[in-house]
Amino acid sequence: MAEVILSHVYKAYPGNPEPTVKDINLEIKDKEFMVLVGPSGCGKSTTLRMIAGLEEITGGTISIGGVVVNNVPPKNRDIAMVFQNYALYPHMTVYENMAFGLRLRHFKKDEIDRRVREAAAILGLDDPKENYLQRRPKNLSGGQRQRVAVGRAIVRQPKAFLFDEPLSNLDAKMRVQMRAEISRLHQRLQSTMIYVTHDQIEAMTMGDRICVMKDGIIQQVADPITLYNFPSNKFVAGFIGTPPMNFFAGKILEKNGKILFSEGTFEIELRDPAWKEKMTAAKVTDVTFGLRPENIGSEMAEQNPDLPRIRAKIEVIEPMGAETHVYLNTGKTSFIAKVDPFRKVRYGEEIELSVYLPKAHLFRNDTEEAVF
Ligand code: ADP
Repeated sequence: MAEVILSHVYKAYPGNPEPTVKDINLEIKDKEFMVLVGPSGCGKSTTLRMIAGLEEITGGTISIGGVVVNNVPPKNRDIAMVFQNYALYPHMTVYENMAFGLRLRHFKKDEIDRRVREAAAILGLDDPKENYLQRRPKNLSGGQRQRVAVGRAIVRQPKAFLFDEPLSNLDAKMRVQMRAEISRLHQRLQSTMIYVTHDQIEAMTMGDRICVMKDGIIQQVADPITLYNFPSNKFVAGFIGTPPMNFFAGKILEKNGKILFSEGTFEIELRDPAWKEKMTAAKVTDVTFGLRPENIGSEMAEQNPDLPRIRAKIEVIEPMGAETHVYLNTGKTSFIAKVDPFRKVRYGEEIELSVYLPKAHLFRNDTEEAVF
């Protein structure tokens, strides 16, 4: 078993006015792929480095496989870390780079050879014609170097793999390819993996679960679909998804027994009884209405005459092929809609777009928490 449990973990760097990581409580299950995601500086790497033992823990406990490791040195934690800059030894061959850690641990030669060749086969570095194992890192592409760095972790057969932004030095195409390779690797090795990235697409595509962080605090931990559909606050809602969720600041009004959201230029009735209940319980009027671009003016929504509509002026049109992204303005709020690529739209034109209300969100303006 290699579950990793962080309990009330804090990290304060000397000289910094505030702790970098605050009260992190996170249970990463055995064999789980957990992604830590958030903007640069939110404390993801610090958290990962505390798990690895590369950074001291200021408060709380971290346990790996049921053992508290706060005072266990990194080399005895039985975990392997893959970094962004690969950290390969330039003067060693690929084979030696992968074998090095095992040699230090006095593994037998045969066992080292078996493990290195197995890792090379898993990573597609075993083509006899290419002779990758005997090359030096400088004679490899970025993607191949990244594979060697992963290979060095695989040969250790660790309890858990830790990845710190491993793909950020690769070009966009290679990133997409390596993303799928690491997911396949997880399926194959069935190991606990903890993966740090600032890229929400990497998080969504790779994570069994995703932990979203901001300012050293966990905002939400959930599987990708839950996170996308039920963000717990405005930050998570805006961070996950591209183009991002649209936010319309406004007020809740009551008119003739109806509950309305008013942006100023338009009003929308919040008809759903479950929403009404939540609105009444929340007792707030200053709110932000959230709607993803695919839920405004979508082909499906346009065919539903019961849905509310908003009028807005087209400012920018971006044809993507499968869909067209249209940037609009209500006169008060800018927003983006994903519309059918065959819909005729023109710059400067005012159009009406239907709002697919079942997928709408509402956030309090004071705490930014989701009302629904
Ligand atoms: P992330 O991985 O989310 O980009 P980090 O964990 O690397 O964030 O850093 C979080 C914050 O902690 C940053 O503001 C950074 O300046 C600060 N920090 C990181 N390492 C140190 C250090 N060794 N000493 C002081 N402050 C640090």
